[in-house]
Amino acid sequence: MKPLTRKKILVTGGAGFLGSHLCQRLLEQGHEVISLDNYFTGEKRNIVHLMDQKYFEVVRHDITMPFLIEVDQIYNLACPASPVHYQYNAIKTVKTSVMGAINMLGLAKRIKARILQASTSEVYGDPLEHPQKEAYWGNVNPIGKRACYDEGKRAAETLFMNYHWQNNVDIKIIRIFNTYGPRMHPDDGRVVSNFIMQALQNKDITIYGDGSQTRSFQYVDDCVEGMIRMMNSQQGFLGPVNMGNPHEFTIKELAEKIIDTTGSRSKLVYSPLPSDDPMQRKPDISLAKKELNWEPKIPLKIGLEKTIAYFEALIRSKTTG
Ligand code: NAD
Ligand code: UDP
Repeated sequence: MKPLTRKKILVTGGAGFLGSHLCQRLLEQGHEVISLDNYFTGEKRNIVHLMDQKYFEVVRHDITMPFLIEVDQIYNLACPASPVHYQYNAIKTVKTSVMGAINMLGLAKRIKARILQASTSEVYGDPLEHPQKEAYWGNVNPIGKRACYDEGKRAAETLFMNYHWQNNVDIKIIRIFNTYGPRMHPDDGRVVSNFIMQALQNKDITIYGDGSQTRSFQYVDDCVEGMIRMMNSQQGFLGPVNMGNPHEFTIKELAEKIIDTTGSRSKLVYSPLPSDDPMQRKPDISLAKKELNWEPKIPLKIGLEKTIAYFEALIRSKTTG
C-alpha cells in the first residue's frame, strides 16, 4: 500500500528545463510522478537519470490534445519558454497555452485535482511599473512577435480563473521570472545559456541593444521550491504570485560576470535589440514572502558557477563523443 503522504502528480513539460528539476524534486519527496511531454524543446536526456525510479513514469503526449489520467495534482509547465523557440511556430505556441490550459483544466475538473499554472513575468510585457507587483496589468503588444507567448499565457490565466469561478476547480497561478540553471537548452537563445556557451568557447558575447536593459535572474532550485510551496499552499490562495529573484542586473553586467567567472577571452559585440524586448524587469516578491514564506536563496555568483559547470561538461561530452 502506498504511504498516505505519497501523491500522484502529473508534470506537463516534464522533460524540459524546469519540468525535469521539478520531477526530480517531487520524486525525492517520495511522490509518484508522471512526466508528460511532446519533446518539442525538452529532451529525454533531462530525465534519463530518473527513469530507473519505480515511481516515475514517462508519457509522450501533446497537451493540445485531451489526456485522461487519475492524479492528485497537476503542474502545467508545457510550453516553449525561450523567445527563439516560442516564435519558431507561433500559432502552436498559442495553441499550447490556450488549448493546453483548456485540456488540463478539463482534466482537473473531472478528476478533482489541484492544478498549478506556470505563468510568466512576460504577462507584464514591457512594464511601465517597476518593480512589478501582481496587481499590475502589464503593457503587452497584442500583435507583436512576443504576443504568441505573452497573450497565450495571459489567456491561460483567464481560463484558470474562470474554471475556478465557474467550476470550482482548485487552481494556483505563479508568474515565473527569468530562471536559469543546469539543463537549460544550450541553443535556446536565452541570455544566460547564450553568454555561457559563447564565453566557454571564447566566441563573441552577443549583446542585443546597448546592454542597459535589465533582468532579474533566479536559480532553478529556488524556483522549484517556490512552485512546490505554492502548489501546497492553503486552499483559497490562488495567486497569481510572482516567483523570481529581485536582484536586478543589466545585460552588460551579466556578460561581464560570465566572462569573469569563466576566465574567457570573449569580447562583447553589440547588435540591435529585438522588437518588444522589455527594457526592465524585476519582481516584487512581498506576496510570496507573506503567503509562502518563500524567497530565493541562491545568489547569481553561485548559480552561475553551477550552470557554467553543467555547460562545460556538456561541451566536453560533445567533443569527446
Ligand atoms: P522548456 O522549453 O525547457 O520546457 C518546456 C517543455 O514543454 C519542453 O519539455 C517541451 O518539449 C514541452 N512542451 C512544449 N509544448 C508542448 C505541448 N504542446 N505538449 C506537451 N509538451 C510540450 O522551458 P522551461 O524554461 O522549462 O519552462 C517551463 C514552463 O515555465 C513554461 O510554461 C514557461 O512558460 C514557464 N516559464 C519559464 C521561465 C524560465 O525562465 N525558464 C520563465 C517564465 C515562465
Ligand atoms: N539577450 C542578449 N543577447 C543574447 C540573448 C539575449 O543581449 O544572446 C538579451 C535579450 O535581448 C533580452 C535579455 O537578454 O533583453 C533577456 O533575454 P532572454 O531571451 O533570456 O529572456 P527574455 O527577454 O524573455 O526575458
